[in-house]
Amino acid sequence: MDISHLLTDSSRNMEASLVRELLHYSQQPEMLSLAGGLPDENLMPNYPDLSMMLDSQQYGASEGETELRELVVSLARDIGIHTTKNNVLITSGSQQGLDIASRLILDGNSTILTEQPTYLAACQVFNLQGANVQGVESDKHGMSIPALRDAIERSKPKAVYLIPNFQNPAGHCYGLKRRQEIAALLDEKNILLIEDDPYRDLCYENVDLTPITSLMRSAPWLYLGSFSKILWPGLRVGYVVSCDAFSPYLVKVKQAIDLHSNRLSQHLITSFVRSDAYPAHLKNLQQEYKVKRDAMAKELKERLGDVVEFTIPSGGMFFWVKLKNGLSAIKVMESALEKNVLVLPSVPFYPTRHPESDAYLRLSFARVSISEMSRAISILSIVIRDQRE
Ligand code: PMP
Repeated sequence: MDISHLLTDSSRNMEASLVRELLHYSQQPEMLSLAGGLPDENLMPNYPDLSMMLDSQQYGASEGETELRELVVSLARDIGIHTTKNNVLITSGSQQGLDIASRLILDGNSTILTEQPTYLAACQVFNLQGANVQGVESDKHGMSIPALRDAIERSKPKAVYLIPNFQNPAGHCYGLKRRQEIAALLDEKNILLIEDDPYRDLCYENVDLTPITSLMRSAPWLYLGSFSKILWPGLRVGYVVSCDAFSPYLVKVKQAIDLHSNRLSQHLITSFVRSDAYPAHLKNLQQEYKVKRDAMAKELKERLGDVVEFTIPSGGMFFWVKLKNGLSAIKVMESALEKNVLVLPSVPFYPTRHPESDAYLRLSFARVSISEMSRAISILSIVIRDQRE
């Protein structure tokens, strides 16, 4: 049946996410996957006692559960964002925060600037609104300030979307100076910042993590947080903290989309984050993931050191590995797949055409065991060397 006449222009042009499609392969038992952004389920705590949560059976508030919003106020305060619960909206994952923000500000006449490369599923959301998504030159310290100034002056964007901490996919973490420069430039130009920060607690080095929103003086901002990477992504709980002016609009969109987020999920998160087990859990996550990160760095250096380049990420889940000698990441991905190793090529992470868009692989160290990681990288080494011949 042809339904294309029913679709809007942007739904017709929607591209399937390569990541989602490749992730189907990761279900195959023999597949070694370094591809997904999934946390390690072995590090997830048990759920708190469900019998306490009876009061989650009824419909709830669109803004989210009061206890969780108050908890987010205190988490935000701890990182330098001073707010009240009126400016906190609980969302079904931070992905929904992106959706709500996009519905509010983007249409076919809007431009949004992103890092280049950037989080693929954010581009999907922006594209669904018909917006023009424009990648801005970025390096290992984040988005370039002259390139951002230039893009703002040329494209008159509605917003700038940034992942300053342990970015997906490139792993970069902005230094304080770059954060201050971005905040000052956005204030000067009065441009909305959408700061997406799901990886901040997966931090393995002593690096600056000051939210850029906390440095802004006058321009509007939205700060997106998530419990997916540190607790249970299946519960789908995230949040948006906003400057005063945005809050009433955010909650109206949330109401129209799904009335409110799952109450049981919100109670489970609140109960665990309030418990004494939470700080110990975070510390354990950081220790365990750091061991895996170091193991991947060692494997990459020993087995691939002469054919790739990479920087060790100071947090998060990903290595962004550059193939030397102009090798195609798509071709490497295809050959690796034939040998039951799943990796992600860089192309879909570039919203704008770029000479290096097919030069990188995103490798996740979070979910695999160290022995699987070692096998996967030794196979990858064979594949890459074959391609060089
Ligand atoms: N932002 C970024 C940068 C991400 O990597 C992800 C998950 N991969 C999300 C947002 C969405 O996370 P969630 O909806 O599970 O909170």
